[in-house]
Amino acid sequence: MENSTFYVKSYGCQMNMYDSEKIISILENKGLKKNLNPENADLIVFNTCNIRDKAAHKVYSDIGRVSKSKKKKTIAVVGCVAQAENYEMFRKNKSIDIVLGPQSYHLLPLMIDDLNNNPNQINTEFIINEKFDYLSEQNKSQGVSSYITIQEGCDKFCSFCVVPYTRGPEYSRTLESILNEVSSLTNNGAKEIVLLGQNVNAYESYSGKYKIQLSDLIKSISKNKKVKRIRYTTSHPINMSDELINLHSTNDKLMPFLHLPVQSGSSKILQRMNRKYDTDFYLGIISKLKKVNPNIEISSDFIVGYPGETEKDFNETLRLIEEIRFTQSFSFIYSPRPGTKSSLENDDTPMKIKKTRLQILQEKLKNIQFNFNKTFIGKKLEVLIENQSTSNPEYFFGRTPFMQPVYVKSLDLKPGDIINVNISTCNHKSLYATC
Ligand code: SF4
Repeated sequence: MENSTFYVKSYGCQMNMYDSEKIISILENKGLKKNLNPENADLIVFNTCNIRDKAAHKVYSDIGRVSKSKKKKTIAVVGCVAQAENYEMFRKNKSIDIVLGPQSYHLLPLMIDDLNNNPNQINTEFIINEKFDYLSEQNKSQGVSSYITIQEGCDKFCSFCVVPYTRGPEYSRTLESILNEVSSLTNNGAKEIVLLGQNVNAYESYSGKYKIQLSDLIKSISKNKKVKRIRYTTSHPINMSDELINLHSTNDKLMPFLHLPVQSGSSKILQRMNRKYDTDFYLGIISKLKKVNPNIEISSDFIVGYPGETEKDFNETLRLIEEIRFTQSFSFIYSPRPGTKSSLENDDTPMKIKKTRLQILQEKLKNIQFNFNKTFIGKKLEVLIENQSTSNPEYFFGRTPFMQPVYVKSLDLKPGDIINVNISTCNHKSLYATC
């Protein structure tokens, strides 16, 4: 397929977006060129995610649309839906050429080459260390803020989630391979390292007989002088060790912002979700974090209308939001995923009520976020500049330590600058500043 063009469509979570970037670089290294118009592309890659509602349904309808195109295309479905649907995909849609699970997409070039011999290519094996080795080689440059996958998979089996089935058990990379990748990225300009994993704080590897946890890994990464900021996402409350919590007080490079999904403020619902903690436990973690670092801010995910959620349960979630005052969040109406435990539960809350609850919850979160942003107006805040706005070159885009997007009016900044800016105005999502 040399000289051919490709189009990649991503469907969901942060991990999926990150994987798409990797797929793009794999295909570019193979000599293919990116095409922003799916109509004209020779290869279409659907990088699927099962986190969002009706994921499989959306993929099939997108495949239906592109396969009607006049130009003959190779169609590859990769990611979590491919893993879950497996051979079934070829049966459901004859236009599909490649089905590839999330642990094997480094094999995409080989599978493309082999299409002449075998028109239905499939790989849904969990060969995760091979993938990490390959990607580490590819991951030379991402920019000022660079992501590194350090852990994949999940052993938690929350009742609503497909990840343990599609991404397999928890697996962590070695310290050495991660540090090598950090060096390679910082040598290419990275200033911020974002450690990524489905359960990133469950990270655990061994160096000889010594166990290395996320706190140890962060300490090692901090020794690299070119690294100015470190973040990690997504964490599970039960894996917030005291060592990791204390690091938020002692390590200046670790940003004072943590994405720690709670999902619900009702202990009854948390138990039904099999989250393995209750609200008191979650509040205890937040209190420990605030004690060691009063400046730390928390973001969360929320599922509204989980089977059995009563008005009382929902109000408990609102109370928890009021108490913690999350400064960012992602919230969704519950929808069952095939094969999960919760999909067998009786879901009798009417959709109208779920939608009203979501609206109330999002309004509350938005107000908290807006009020938080407003506290910075007239003050100075440190920003790591990531790029210049393409639509308005008078502005540079960056992020504060609390992950707030900032647009800085200036003509003489460059990516990688870390500067204190004057916050002049804001909305609930972003800050606006001058130098
Ligand atoms: S912790 Fe729960 S929600 Fe997160 S990936 Fe694992 S099973 Fe899914």
